[in-house]
Amino acid sequence: MKTPCLPVRAYIPTNDGGEFISRPRVVALREFAPSNIIYYEGSKFMVSKTKIPVGGIDSQYQRVKCCFNCGYFHTDNLSRDTCENCGTKFKPDAYQNLSELSRVLSMDTALTRRRERITCDEEERLKYGYNITTHFRYAAQKQESATVLAADHTPLFKLTYGSTATLWRINRGLKKNTEERGFKLDIKTGLWGDLKTNLSPTNLPAETLHTEVNLMVDDTCNILVIEPLIVPQDNKEAFIATLQYILETAIQAVYKLEPDELDSERLGEGKYLLFWEASEGGAGVLSQLLQQPKAFQKIANAALDFCHFQTPKDSCVQACYECLLSYRNQFDHPLINRHLIKPLLDDLQASTVEISGVFRDEKYQELFTQTDANSDFEREVLQEIYQRGYKLPDTAQELIPEANCKPDFIYKDEKTAIFCDGSVHNSPEQKKQDQIERDNLRYNAGYQILTLRYDENWREKLEVLGSL
Ligand SMILES: [Zn+2]
Ligand SMILES: [Zn+2]
Repeated sequence: MKTPCLPVRAYIPTNDGGEFISRPRVVALREFAPSNIIYYEGSKFMVSKTKIPVGGIDSQYQRVKCCFNCGYFHTDNLSRDTCENCGTKFKPDAYQNLSELSRVLSMDTALTRRRERITCDEEERLKYGYNITTHFRYAAQKQESATVLAADHTPLFKLTYGSTATLWRINRGLKKNTEERGFKLDIKTGLWGDLKTNLSPTNLPAETLHTEVNLMVDDTCNILVIEPLIVPQDNKEAFIATLQYILETAIQAVYKLEPDELDSERLGEGKYLLFWEASEGGAGVLSQLLQQPKAFQKIANAALDFCHFQTPKDSCVQACYECLLSYRNQFDHPLINRHLIKPLLDDLQASTVEISGVFRDEKYQELFTQTDANSDFEREVLQEIYQRGYKLPDTAQELIPEANCKPDFIYKDEKTAIFCDGSVHNSPEQKKQDQIERDNLRYNAGYQILTLRYDENWREKLEVLGSL
């Protein structure tokens, strides 16, 4: 089931009671962030306060760990000190953003108050904007990988596609406030800021003041991570930035997407490019880049065309508004240089995409070794699931404590358990025992149960897995 991505609201006090305005979550992360100024019907309002739940703010804090090498996000198993995705040890990024945060709040309704005038100091700090980091996580078993190969089989890109992945953005405070991280929050009143930054009308007492509070929004969408495998040592940053905008523009052109339907970001200090499709009604374009062997040929052709390599445009030195520049990428304009990517585009023109499916194979092997050594039937079922291309179970022979039983296979998210009953399950005692365990699993743990018997038409029953 898809989680609806609700907008975030802000309360604006007006003379006749007040109004709520709402923004998409990503927009709200900046616009409704502490101390930002909102213009509403000719007046200025400053975001000053958040709601404190009855149970206190502590229950709302989330702890997270972010890998700055690849952008991967962790909310579970926080005792680990290496990234689940790339294996790198967690450490701060080049801007000293911490990988581990213990006070992260999901963006909630913001409360504002009217401001007659904004001080120069406030304006100065707001001008530089907020320090926002982007992170992602693949949904379990919903990732696929492929390699883009040149005509001579040199690997050019590694592609990893994740359907229904989660994208997080964290607002870590004002960029200008380099000496302090996050925001300050008075946990009694919900007021943001403190005396020093003069954001709130009262002097917040130190004992109820929390520091290093971060704000977060999340979104579910299809993503594609591209790792360029041949990167020149000179002009590395310019190369990656240009590649990002060339690919984004070319994918939009080839697959006829609107600019707001595809977005991208550089992760891991430029090691990876992250692309994502607009969450609502995504056209499923990114998965096609893995499935169509000639996808990157088309992309390269389009890029060579709009970068004026087919019809030269002398007035375009590095890049112009007709090819790669836009208002949106204005901070990167000094870096963007179409000539840096020309040799790569030439290689891509004769490239092929080779899908690897390595994750699925590895998962299958892992499950195979987890099966009961005495049950060939289990392995037969697993093989059938694998060969039909159905989603693979999460684990085999894992104990479900609430039911005190070990199903042969389980799908955790779908709460579905599979039992593969060989001939040992024929005895009356065993049947009775099976019945008790499976009832517990059904009624105490809320699982759906699929029982397959070796002597019946189990292959047909397996078809229900096709919808997982
Ligand atoms: Zn990582
Ligand atoms: Zn140009």
